[in-house]
Formats: sequence, structure tokens, C-alpha cells
Amino acid sequence: MSDHSYILPGATGDWEVVMGLEIHAQVVSNAKLFSGAATAFGAAPNTQVSLVDAAMPGMLPVINERVVEQAVRTGLGLNAQINLWSRFDRKNYFYPDLPQGYQISQFQFPIVGEGEIECERDDGSRFTVGIERLHLEQDAGKSIHDLDPNSTYVDLNRSGVALMEIVSRPHIRSPEEASAYVAKLRTILRYLGTCGGDMEKGQLRADVNVSVCRPGQYEKFRETGDFSHLGTRCEIKNVNSLRFIRQAIEYEAKRQIDIIEDGGKIDQETRLFDAGTGVTRSMRSKEEAHDYRYFPDPDLLPLELQQTWVDEIRAGLPELPDQKRVRLVSELGLSDYDAAVLSADKDRADYFEIVAEGRDAKLASSWVNNELYGRLNKEGLDITDSPVSAEQLGGLIALISDDTISGKIAKDVFEILWSEGGAPAKIVEEKGLKQVTDTGAIEAVIDRLIADNPDQAAQVKDKPKTMGWFVGQVMKAMQGKANPQAVNEILRKKLLG
Ligand code: ADP
Ligand code: MG
Repeated sequence: MSDHSYILPGATGDWEVVMGLEIHAQVVSNAKLFSGAATAFGAAPNTQVSLVDAAMPGMLPVINERVVEQAVRTGLGLNAQINLWSRFDRKNYFYPDLPQGYQISQFQFPIVGEGEIECERDDGSRFTVGIERLHLEQDAGKSIHDLDPNSTYVDLNRSGVALMEIVSRPHIRSPEEASAYVAKLRTILRYLGTCGGDMEKGQLRADVNVSVCRPGQYEKFRETGDFSHLGTRCEIKNVNSLRFIRQAIEYEAKRQIDIIEDGGKIDQETRLFDAGTGVTRSMRSKEEAHDYRYFPDPDLLPLELQQTWVDEIRAGLPELPDQKRVRLVSELGLSDYDAAVLSADKDRADYFEIVAEGRDAKLASSWVNNELYGRLNKEGLDITDSPVSAEQLGGLIALISDDTISGKIAKDVFEILWSEGGAPAKIVEEKGLKQVTDTGAIEAVIDRLIADNPDQAAQVKDKPKTMGWFVGQVMKAMQGKANPQAVNEILRKKLLG
């Protein structure tokens, strides 16, 4: 048993949870999966709907090559098998916002097969989650129930938008691991540029399958691959934030344990998470489950890819988060922790790389992770909305590195950059913030301070730590602009001999 096992004590003994996630990721593409209609978020209802998306009689879907390329790119980024032959199937069901009466999806032959993702828990330890498959499918439209008391409106802008469904193996063992998995997957997708990953905008939606079992059962499942060692699962549909994923799992695991301990059994069913109350509710049971009557879509040929095309996409893959993390440590000398924090967020990493370009990387990392993020978090701002640009922060760091300003003055300059903008070097020049390295000027101040405070000066000989008082006084007298190293050196010479 690993140190990270998540044990839920019940009335009849301990329990563990097992989870597999199905993630729907909206593909970054200007056009839909089978039509040329636009996909921009927030457009007026029904303004991005082609005849194909509205399912007019006689319409014919045409595959969007760009979307296929994005799916392949994602598969490669997940270290997964790319299937050169795949097929689109019709998944038949009626839904008011699905005008075709079926969803075009991939069932038996997905474009991407097995892969895996390495994820990090909060304490930095790693675990691996197997990927079962990734397939392409169409999104449905949206029913709007709250515009009119007597009718439901439908917005077909989303109808036909390309989704990648990414199905994990049931290798996730705690609420923390579930959110870490989604966070890592989202980071990879964002690095690849294949999904925006914004859960609030519905670009990434998670269906969470949860079951409970006794300790030791999961290990038997992993050894044999036999699912009968695991408990019956329930699927919680469309959970749309990392926090809700954790909450939904905690609630659902306890619910299942209570039922089993009361002598009942778990019905395999689809449930909904109510974020307001934190509970999951039954949506439909397995008995009511749809028979989708999958069959190959006769309007579409099987998808055949050339290995050379796949190889070209592989050659063009960007640096991925794990590679970046390793490089930040090995090439730039950052700590494991800083490298992990920076690489986990593509925007943060991009910003950092501009700041650090040709500069002191450790100093750059410390400023980005501490000063900048401290300030951004305080104001509730995203790094993409930072009032201080990476170029400005880089300029500020250059001034610290070449001793033009001290770290302390740099914080003042940072405040000016934040509220007024401007060029760091110009601000330092205009406001006269340059660090005084002229030892003569510093010496004069020190001599005067020693003469004015003979008792304190004598005390330093017995208690060298009290020299800090003099450092503070020199800085105060020189408005913080004295070079701290020079101040310390001169003080030591004069007071300690
Ligand atoms: P379906 O086709 O009914 O959706 P799948 O076999 O595709 O079923 O599984 C869907 C998801 O459920 C996968 O992510 C898988 O890892 C997960 N899963 C399967 N069995 C279990 C289980 N016993 N406990 C938790 N998750 C499970
Ligand atoms: Mg499924």
C-alpha cells in the first residue's frame, strides 16, 4: 500500500475509492468538426450555424482536417498510440438540442488508443494514469430554459463543435489525485494548443466514475485486469471545476459506503452533482440506459492517416510541461519546486521565460512566483491581465543584477510599474533611485553615525548581531539607496576592526 492511499473508515472496516474520468475537451479550431461554421465563444445565439449543424435534410458532413491534426497532436502529447485507421459512428438518441437525432462519434475504432499521463500530487509526488482512448465527436447545442416561462429556446452555436473525449483507466485513487489528473491533462492540452481548458466556458468537462472497494482489491485488479475485483461504479456527469470534482467524489464515495454497509448494493447509474448542496443525485439508471444503436456513419469514409503526416506533427510538437520542468532545473538551475510551479501553468511559464531570457533565472523565478503572483492574487488577477509586462519585469531584474538598484528599491519600482507603468530604467533615472556604490559617500554617513552613537558602536564588538541597527540607520539616511554589500563591508571594518 502506498503512503498516498486514501482510506475511508466505515462501520464495518476500511474502504478505498477507485476512479476513472471521461474528459470532454473542446478542440481549438476556427471551424466545427464537419462544417465551416465558426466556433467563437459568446457569439449571439444561432449565428454560427451551418446547414450541417442545423441538420437540414440532405446535408453532408465534411471532415475538418485541422481538427484531425489537433486530435493526433493531443494523442502524441499523451504518449498514446495513433490509430492510422479510425471510423465515425452514429450514436442515436433524441435530444431537443441535437437536431440530427444522432451524434457523430467514434465508438469501436477511435483515432487515438492507449497512452498515459504522469501527474503530481500536492506534495510533489508523482503517479501515472493510463489513458484508454481519445476519440472525436460532435458537441450538441444548448437548450435555454430560463428565458421564457412557457418555452425552451435552443442555441445551436455549439452544435457540431469538435470535442475530444479522453477516457482514463480507473487508476485514480483519491479526490486529490482526480483533480491533479484533470489539472495535468489541462496543462498538457494548453501547451499543445489543442484545447483552451477553460472549465467555466465549458471547454473542458469531466464525467467522474466512482466506485468503492476494500483495501487490496485495487491491487488485485491491477495484477489481473479483472474489473470484478472493483466495486460497481456510478458516473457523475459534467462536473465543471476542480473543486467540484473533489467534492463530488467525497460525497459519492461516502454515499456508496453507507449503502453497502446498510446491506444494499450499488446500482450502476448516471448521477448529477449539485454544486449548491454538494450532493449527487440520480439522473438515470443502467436499466434505463440508452441503446444507442451505433453504426458506421454512411456519409463519412473511414479516416485514414499517413504515417509521414503523423511524424510531421510529432516533429512539430512544442516542449511539454514535464520537459520544461526538467529543463528549468537542469539548464537554469531552478529548484524542483519552482520549476514545477512555473511549468504547471503555460501562461506563467511563458511569462517567466521572457523575464528570464538572458538574465538571472533564479532571481526571475523568485520575482515571478513571489512578488508578481503575490500581487496578482491579492487583486484577483490572471497573469494574462498583469499590469506589469514580462518585458518590464525583466528590465527591473536586469537593474537588480547589475547593481543599479537594490532589491528593496526594486520593490518600490515594481509598485510604480504596477500602478503607473513605464520603463524601469527610466523610472530609476527620473526618481533618482540609483543605488549608491560610491564607498566614500557611504563611509561619510557611517562615520557620522558612529560618532553620534558611541555606545551602540561599542556594543557591536560584544554582540556582532547588533550591527544590523547600523545597517538600518545607514539605509534610512540614504533613502534605501546604499549598496547593502558595501554598507556591511564598511561597517564590519569600522566596528569590528
Ligand atoms: P462505458 O462505456 O459504460 O462508459 P467504460 O468502460 O468506457 O464504460 O468506462 C468509462 C469510465 O469508467 C472509464 O474512465 C473507466 O476507467 C471508468 N471505470 C470503469 N470501471 C470502473 C470502476 N469499477 N470504478 C471506477 N471507474 C471505473
Ligand atoms: Mg463512457
